[in-house]
Amino acid sequence: MKIGILGGTFDPPHVGHLAVAESVRDQLELDEVVFVPAARNPMKDRRAHAGHKHRLAMLRVMAEGKPGLGVSDIEITRGGSSYMVETLEELHLVQPADYWLILGSDALQGFSEWRHPERICRFARVAAVIRPPMEKVTFPLPDYLENVLDWVECRTPNISSTRVRSMLQRRDEDVVRWLDPRVYEYIQRHRLYRIED
Ligand code: ATP
Ligand code: MG
Repeated sequence: MKIGILGGTFDPPHVGHLAVAESVRDQLELDEVVFVPAARNPMKDRRAHAGHKHRLAMLRVMAEGKPGLGVSDIEITRGGSSYMVETLEELHLVQPADYWLILGSDALQGFSEWRHPERICRFARVAAVIRPPMEKVTFPLPDYLENVLDWVECRTPNISSTRVRSMLQRRDEDVVRWLDPRVYEYIQRHRLYRIED
């Protein structure tokens, strides 16, 4: 089995996340790409706006019916700060497979500040995509990363969850183009991201 892991806060999940997952799945011929929402991202200084339950549910509705896409609650269930090295160790035990950790180029840039990045690269290869507005990678990459890196060519939409949240707060209807329709419906139904919280 070849499995891709796309970790993040997904607050909320948007079409950029979906484009990354589907491009990596198709180009690296992975059996599955699994979205793994963090309980808490140790690199972000505040907690997510939407709770665990909502972020998981939004990912589930986004992945539903799309072949080769799945969602795991492994980090939410573990709780506390979510470290990818622990997630990959646990995944290897419960489901031995060939793993790819999927990173946008912004995440790739900060990767050496993650907990035990060299160890992560012994558990998984890294699949990287350029994230707009970045056009190419100009920062240096450590050898341990370079050795396990697979670049995936794709043009993902220039969108972030931060921008989606701000559009939702302004009730900007154009936000629909950045969200899976079922995710938009979920957000409306649960009145998420209405006021700065
Ligand atoms: P926020 O604005 O809250 O940081 P985000 O849009 O960056 O949200 P994250 O949950 O932080 O989303 O990102 C998870 C992963 O998805 C990271 O590896 C990030 O690089 C990648 N990613 C998110 N959006 C895109 C995009 N539009 N194109 C390429 N990669 C993306
Ligand atoms: Mg981000």
